[in-house]
Amino acid sequence: MESHTDLVVVGGGIAGVSVAYELAVHGRVVLLEAEADMPVHSTARSAATYIPGHGSGPFRALIDASGPRFRVLQTELDTPPLLSPRPVLHLGDDDAGAAGIVAMLDEQRGEPNAPIALDPAEALRRAPVLRRPPRAAAWTAGSADVDAIALHDGYRRGLRARGGTVLRGARVSAITRDGGGWLVETAAGQRVLAAAVVDAAGSWADEVAALAGVPRVGFTPLRRTIAACPVPDPSVLRVGGAPLPLIADAAERWYLKPEADTVLVSPADETPQAPGDARPDELDVALGLDRVGEVTTLGLRSVRRAWAGLRTFAPDRAPVLGQWPDRPGFHFVAGQGGSGIESAPALAALAASVIIGAAPPADIALDPAVCSVTRLRPA
Ligand SMILES: Cc1cc2nc3c(=O)[nH]c(=O)nc-3n(C[C@H](O)[C@H](O)[C@H](O)COP(=O)(O)OP(=O)(O)OC[C@H]3O[C@@H](n4cnc5c(N)ncnc54)[C@H](O)[C@@H]3O)c2cc1C
Repeated sequence: MESHTDLVVVGGGIAGVSVAYELAVHGRVVLLEAEADMPVHSTARSAATYIPGHGSGPFRALIDASGPRFRVLQTELDTPPLLSPRPVLHLGDDDAGAAGIVAMLDEQRGEPNAPIALDPAEALRRAPVLRRPPRAAAWTAGSADVDAIALHDGYRRGLRARGGTVLRGARVSAITRDGGGWLVETAAGQRVLAAAVVDAAGSWADEVAALAGVPRVGFTPLRRTIAACPVPDPSVLRVGGAPLPLIADAAERWYLKPEADTVLVSPADETPQAPGDARPDELDVALGLDRVGEVTTLGLRSVRRAWAGLRTFAPDRAPVLGQWPDRPGFHFVAGQGGSGIESAPALAALAASVIIGAAPPADIALDPAVCSVTRLRPA
């Protein structure tokens, strides 16, 4: 089967569906996803939080710009509520944590939605599950839980409504120059001729780029583990009628996020791993429970479900966009790390503007040059 289109997007995670949706107003888009279902990799395994101030500077700008865009998308894509308020309590319970609070407040001073310092007694009042008042604390008020699956599903429906095509079970196995464009072939035998190719293959971004002859950019997939643990007394998950905040160690050694009658516990692990189907390691699960047990009175005794996924970073932890210099029409939308959901609305819009050669959207306070893949070219 051979078809012709304007743009091929490789990868059906949040990166792929969101940029395909944005591109579909500018031309015909075919999205190719290797798996029979989507999403199954990182996008299906995230903690689904929206936290202003999270990650490297470029991501912080994209997260800020995404806040209002989530609200617009909810109407545009006809989804259930995409954001539900869930403040974040950043905790400094020891020297490293207290230093983390100071560094965080310093780094984000003056930024929109920056965290505010919190008195230790006030931190305990807002999170009575803590064993003791912390040494230092901070509060990010504008944070939220994201309905990541509704967002992904909305983008996918929106893409189809804009005339785009989604092919599953379509693992891209060859990408070759063909005249002025590209011939993209899949292991299942599909052949798609396109003017441009977008590599949104998450942890596999380097592998997909290699098919087109692009040298390794140097993406590193890092495994992260989550365990959903039933809370013996779920009444502690509300504080005076408000939801218990997400509580995160400011030295990034653990976090917990309430979800229904459980808390999601993560040891905030970052274990390098080849792209693939990540599995949780029992030791990482135990480490997360141990660290949360040390700081809280939640009394977690069992794990209902544990999983792991890959967070894939460029060497400088900034997003990677744009065209590889001597491969005209071969574009990256990759390196979303731990922020691919919370930054998706703005990142997709910015990436689409780069791909079609338009000015960046006015609401996104980020120079796309900062994200350009050319910064990662070997000297
Ligand atoms: C435990 C954990 C917690 C996280 N928490 C958060 C959070 O709270 N907030 C947040 O914003 N982000 C979070 N993240 C990060 C977020 O999940 C990722 O940044 C995001 O999902 C990356 O999306 P993606 O589309 O790039 O990758 P993926 O979802 O992995 O999608 C890539 C797709 O490309 C496909 N593919 C690969 N090779 C090929 C090929 N040759 N042909 C066709 N298709 C191919 C794969 O099958 C896959 O479906 C978390 C991640 C993890 C693991």
